[in-house]
Amino acid sequence: MCHEPIDMALPPGHRDAFTLDHLTPLSRGGDIDGPAEPAHRRCNSGRGDGRRARARAHPPTLLHW
Ligand SMILES: [Zn+2]
Repeated sequence: MCHEPIDMALPPGHRDAFTLDHLTPLSRGGDIDGPAEPAHRRCNSGRGDGRRARARAHPPTLLHW
């Protein structure tokens, strides 16, 4: 994602560890086997300072409840 090298030996919880970033988020109907690219954990989750709290407790849906 950021085109920096990823150390595959890092433990999964490490902020620089390897993760797969799905181009279509699974939460938006993306396929688990769909297109994805490698990303650092810190780049994949958070995409910012990594402290983005769950700003939206209820993600937007197509249905009105
Ligand atoms: Zn990265």
